[in-house]
Amino acid sequence: MPIVISKNKREAGLLNAVREISGVDVARCLQCKKCTNGCPVATLVKVPPSEIIRRLLLNEDDSTVNSDLVWMCASCETCFSRCPMQIDMAAIMDALRIISIKRNTAKQKGNVPLFNKWFLKTVKVFGRTYDLGMIAAYKVGTSNYFQDADKFPMMLRKRKIALFPSFKADKKYVTRIFKKKN
Ligand code: SF4
Ligand code: SF4
Repeated sequence: MPIVISKNKREAGLLNAVREISGVDVARCLQCKKCTNGCPVATLVKVPPSEIIRRLLLNEDDSTVNSDLVWMCASCETCFSRCPMQIDMAAIMDALRIISIKRNTAKQKGNVPLFNKWFLKTVKVFGRTYDLGMIAAYKVGTSNYFQDADKFPMMLRKRKIALFPSFKADKKYVTRIFKKKN
């Protein structure tokens, strides 16, 4: 996909913000595209991983934050394992998600931001994910109450989902991570 440089780009602000949040030095990228060639969602998105890096280096702001890969990335780390410069793309995507949410520009593509929000909220409250609470909040947000509801009894029976949250996690440790991210 051709990169169109917009006039309203914000002076390296996004590149610095991503570097600060993720701790990744994006400038080391060689544009070899090994990340894109191994990415399982590269063919489903308009802007593949190597192009995200290119856009960051060109100070393309809005089109980078709003790229579909930001919310489609599965954090599988395949790109990281293939990258000759050890660029942690999943960390970059996390940083772009944080920036997108802070700017309130997170696109509701497939309700991924909504899912992400409630997943993180349960981790923040309980120190680890509480699936039932997260699913209930997500369903209220989408108003789609009965999708996959028939699978619930079987999941309960096979202990794939718990009725109550676990309080075994090291809550102080998790709280420190959230404080650092903010
Ligand atoms: S694999 Fe690494 S060096 Fe190559 S394009 Fe992707 S991020 Fe850049
Ligand atoms: S971590 Fe994200 S960008 Fe990297 S290969 Fe997996 S899905 Fe693609």
